[in-house]
Amino acid sequence: MRFIRTKAAFATVGLAFALAACGDAGNDDTDAVDVEVADDAAAAFDDGTRMKEMAEDGEITIGVKFDQPGIGFKGAADDTPAGIDPEMGKILAASLGIEAGDIDWKETISDNREPFLVEGEVDLVIASYSITDERRAVVGQAGPYYVTGQQLLVRSDSDIATLDDVDGTEVCSVTGSTSLENIKAEGAKPRGFDTYSECVDQVLDGTVDAMTTDGAILLGYAAENPDELKVVVDPFSEERYGIGYSLKHPEMCGWITDTVQAAYDDGSWATAFEATLGQSGVDTPTPPALDECPA
Ligand code: GLU
Repeated sequence: MRFIRTKAAFATVGLAFALAACGDAGNDDTDAVDVEVADDAAAAFDDGTRMKEMAEDGEITIGVKFDQPGIGFKGAADDTPAGIDPEMGKILAASLGIEAGDIDWKETISDNREPFLVEGEVDLVIASYSITDERRAVVGQAGPYYVTGQQLLVRSDSDIATLDDVDGTEVCSVTGSTSLENIKAEGAKPRGFDTYSECVDQVLDGTVDAMTTDGAILLGYAAENPDELKVVVDPFSEERYGIGYSLKHPEMCGWITDTVQAAYDDGSWATAFEATLGQSGVDTPTPPALDECPA
């Protein structure tokens, strides 16, 4: 029961939000979240654990997306990213006694999430990162902290209304994502890009017929372009968002899982959700049950 001692420290973690006055899903107020950090956090962790090391050094590097409103977004003029994924990162850092302002944020794209973890470029990946058996063979993934499903984003005047309608059409998504693999099975002509922001530009200018990925991501883009874009079709996959860590540090799974559970229990997860994805029009769900860590 290595993590019992840490629970007391986690209980001191709380979030106080002052929401931006506007309902934008982007990053207009990077100081909107005030995370209370744990006191003397290093003492709560066993010697030799990566958590103790990070707590003692006061350093953590977290990979997030920079171009997905509501999930992980950092505009050119912003100092820090905003979205549900950075909020999860702040909650985890706070349990190590690390202030939000001391987190080293690194941009990840879908295709470099496993390499970044394996090569030690980042300590955590929190980047709309679905838990899959294939990924869990290479990296650790704790969670899920959110569950969404794949849908389509089309121009407002598009005739695509059902999944059958994509047969023979050009549909973009991102290389290294589950989304690109799933849409190939539906008879669409897949077009892979590095990022979802490149893909959404192709939809807006009419180069492709649709874009596909998780509904939570698509709603963020639709909220930014409500007159030009709409999300269609019922979710046709289950995407369980996990928090990636290196398999060199398997002890991180218990820490991540306990910290996320504490955020569910004290309401800070729901508050973080409402301040981020909630602003894109996503209803706050019941938080999903967390997987047990590997033995
Ligand atoms: N959640 C899916 C995945 O991890 C799609 C979103 C993304 O590429 O970030 O592949």
